Amino acid sequence: MFMYEFMLPLRCFCLKDMAPKKWSTMMAMESHNDLRRGTELWNREQVNVVDYLRGKLKVDADEELLHSITGILDVNCHEVRSNIPGTKEQYFIRGVYPLCAMMSHFCSNNTHHTLMDDMTMVVIASRPIKKGDQITATYTHILSATTERRKHLRYGKFFDCACERCRDPTEMGTYFGALKCSQPGCGGSILCTDPLVATNDAPWACDRCKYQVAAVTVERLNKMVYWELREAGEEDPAKIEGLLRKYQYVLHPQHFHMVGMKHTLSQMYGRLPGYALNTISDAQRRRKVECCRDLLKVLDVIDPGISRLRGLTLYELHAPLLLEANGAFQRTSITRREFLTKLREVEGYLSLVVYCLQHEPLSSSEGDVCKIARNSLVELRKWITTVTSLPDRHFLPEEVEKVTAASLVRSDEDLTLESLLRSLEEQ
Ligand SMILES: [Zn+2]
Ligand SMILES: [Zn+2]
Repeated sequence: MFMYEFMLPLRCFCLKDMAPKKWSTMMAMESHNDLRRGTELWNREQVNVVDYLRGKLKVDADEELLHSITGILDVNCHEVRSNIPGTKEQYFIRGVYPLCAMMSHFCSNNTHHTLMDDMTMVVIASRPIKKGDQITATYTHILSATTERRKHLRYGKFFDCACERCRDPTEMGTYFGALKCSQPGCGGSILCTDPLVATNDAPWACDRCKYQVAAVTVERLNKMVYWELREAGEEDPAKIEGLLRKYQYVLHPQHFHMVGMKHTLSQMYGRLPGYALNTISDAQRRRKVECCRDLLKVLDVIDPGISRLRGLTLYELHAPLLLEANGAFQRTSITRREFLTKLREVEGYLSLVVYCLQHEPLSSSEGDVCKIARNSLVELRKWITTVTSLPDRHFLPEEVEKVTAASLVRSDEDLTLESLLRSLEEQ
């Protein structure tokens, strides 16, 4: 039994006398009592909340009313992160925001919400929304696959999602739940044959050879990987790399567990004690870059535009790239053109970090990252200007082939020995 599960419903019940206006706003919200009655969640709340409040604490409240309160909380609550003022510590709380709760759910939503320090929720469009389009939010974990999301939504929110992402077995081309076909020489992907079945148990089949796998087997496999991941912990990249290798022939490279592991690795390399960015090997730095890019490939589809996770991943991506480019410059092993191309690529990523995290409260760790990225961007732009005017001796000379290729732009009639020499000098 969860000892304090009754606390929030009790606080809500007290609003009746203490803040009648808030009480009526809350009670106007959907509780789905009829859909919830008899479910596992209902029975748990019957014991932990209703019976506890009425029996143990002698609260004079109607049973159905208490169920309505727990229902309103279950159906409408947002899981929100809040910062402990003056610290970087974050904790999760349940917040009821009546206006936000009216937004429809979509497993790839078009809004982004942030909780400010004063507990105000700010909702902004995370990507362009056409006139007449629905404004959508997500009530489940965006980095989980369709079956898991739909089960979570059915359990906690009492509806079967049939959004564009759920409807498409490939999850908008990401293959986020897909397995690799094990039939010799096939190379196909095993996908759910009907993701919208209410029981979520439609068979899975290869998109090429039609080889079938039972839904329960897929579920068991996902659970097994989940437990192995928990066991591996988040302190040893070698363990995660081992799991990635182990499942590379079983899970699609963009399967949510594979992407999840790459997400973990992208944060391990460069951040864990003993894995500081300037001490890890070149191979490990390149691995960090690769993991960030693979994660971004999926996020660009399911969480495009203004997104916290995209912002943080782009930040992780920029650092090793900048370090590598500056390292090559220090060793005079890069041409000016290549160096500028790399610096401008990093500049693009940093601008996107600022774009993605600009609405995060300054007291949050994301707000912190945004501030650092903003300052780094100013410094980087100054550096780019400096690099443009540095003497040639700091760089590898441009390859001769490139010079001749560039001079070919001129027409053959113009080509004389004199003009050729001049163009070589200009390079
Ligand atoms: Zn959906
Ligand atoms: Zn196959």
